[in-house]
Amino acid sequence: MRFRVSYQLALGLFANIAACAGCRSVVSLEAGASCACTKLAAQYGDLVVLPDSSNYTAESTEYWDVRSDLQPGCIFLPNETTQVSSAVSILQSCGTQFAIRGGGHMNFPGSNNIDGGVLLALNSLNEVVVASDNQSVSVGPGARWVDVYAALAPYDLYCIGGRLKTIGVSGLTLIGGFHYLINKYGMTMDNVLSYDVVLGNGTQVTANETSNGDLFWALKGGGSNFGIVTKFTIKALPIASLSTTIQAFDESAVPAFINASCDLALNDGPDLAAGTVLSISVNTTTNAAIASLLGVQEGTESPPSRFANFSSIPALTVVNKVQPPLEWHSVLETPNQMFRVQFAHHTMKPDGAQLYRIYQGWRAAVQDVIDVEGLYPTFVMNILPKSAASVAKTNGVGNTWGLDDDESWIIWQFSTGWANAVDDLRMTNWARSLSDYWHAENTAKGLASEFLYAGDAGEFQNIFNGYPIENVRRMRAVRDAYDPSGTFTRLNWGGFKLGGE
Ligand SMILES: Cc1cc2nc3c(=O)[nH]c(=O)nc-3n(C[C@H](O)[C@H](O)[C@H](O)COP(=O)(O)OP(=O)(O)OC[C@H]3O[C@@H](n4cnc5c(N)ncnc54)[C@H](O)[C@@H]3O)c2cc1C
Repeated sequence: MRFRVSYQLALGLFANIAACAGCRSVVSLEAGASCACTKLAAQYGDLVVLPDSSNYTAESTEYWDVRSDLQPGCIFLPNETTQVSSAVSILQSCGTQFAIRGGGHMNFPGSNNIDGGVLLALNSLNEVVVASDNQSVSVGPGARWVDVYAALAPYDLYCIGGRLKTIGVSGLTLIGGFHYLINKYGMTMDNVLSYDVVLGNGTQVTANETSNGDLFWALKGGGSNFGIVTKFTIKALPIASLSTTIQAFDESAVPAFINASCDLALNDGPDLAAGTVLSISVNTTTNAAIASLLGVQEGTESPPSRFANFSSIPALTVVNKVQPPLEWHSVLETPNQMFRVQFAHHTMKPDGAQLYRIYQGWRAAVQDVIDVEGLYPTFVMNILPKSAASVAKTNGVGNTWGLDDDESWIIWQFSTGWANAVDDLRMTNWARSLSDYWHAENTAKGLASEFLYAGDAGEFQNIFNGYPIENVRRMRAVRDAYDPSGTFTRLNWGGFKLGGE
């Protein structure tokens, strides 16, 4: 039975919990939540949402993946940074297990929500302020990317963030961040100038090039292992126009579509900022596959020349536009609660023939789960051109991925939606065994990279296994220095954690 905290229960347990004040060990979910929820409610009243509050269901289902809907003992909605500090001190002193939510898009249970513990939901910390010199934008951790693009638009500015509309700023920036224009400007993390962070004991620090430099580096791809980021200061870029293309192709075009994707990965040099979202979806009713390209290039040249290899493939539809960034992003919805979702992915050299074999293997394997209600299978390719690593190589800071900029990659991902919890294990096992098989074949052929991206990963994938081991050791040392009592390891255990030796 799921634990639900009520005022009565909280008060009833309070005597037990008093003994926990100041302790650093992890206590049971019930005891920890009761302790923290009681203290937070006493201090912050309506900012604490309890299971019997009218907005509890709305808050506990503010997730992209239905699988992430859990039943926290209470939800705390801070609207000031000092309240985050105070909450972390309370959670730590109570030994409370807790989850952190930014935009709620990381798609597996426990990464951003928690049954029985405390959910620290950062929604209200969503202020976005463009600096008066137009060089940067400071962003609260509850903001979505469209909020950032909207704030920058009046100044004809843009930044390197999420490719779709409502992805959270926090999670994406902390894990790396694929934008369309990474081939010229690097990953989102490479564009962060400064982080304000609440540490595990509740103290606030700033990490940037001149202050807490080791933490500054670790936050570039190290995720939620070090603290709660309460402000990101991100470089603003003078980009007023994007040349965009949306193209759709039928299944006969898939081999050419995959070859064009590999060509783009290999030839997407930094002279012209351009990138994509590439996917092939199967309609399980008609069994038809549709390939689609969302292509974006900096500037006004239309159609965008960087996608000429796609434009030469006979298409079902093509829509080319020159438009401000905000207009482009405003229509790219990713609605919450559409389905349950499993991601699984690996990274390989851009080899068109082998990638097409993987597509065909996936296409055939979809038939093994075709009876699953609400099945929505998509084959996604994220291109990682070698120049995307160049910014980190040359900016004097680097990032935790530690990629070399002498080789381009394609991340292939199975993204599968379905309707009912009864199929959860089946779908996870299907995605895992299928992706592992093709990665093993790529490894045998010398085509595989061990690099994994947290934004494309299933919960069974240890992303840090794909980072250089010296970077993992360095991140662990940073974590141990900034969070010696393990608040973000033992109490906040969801998401991708660094683990120990
Ligand atoms: C539909 C869809 C489209 C996507 N498109 C892209 C894309 O274009 N580019 C790309 O790179 N990725 C993309 N992703 C992946 C995306 O980057 C991750 O899901 C990312 O985690 C989303 O950030 P969020 O704030 O919404 O996540 P959340 O689920 O809120 O958080 C992710 C993790 O970070 C932790 N966290 C959140 N905020 C903080 C904070 N302030 N301090 C410390 N820890 C925190 C959470 O506890 C959680 O473990 C996409 C995902 C989906 C589902």
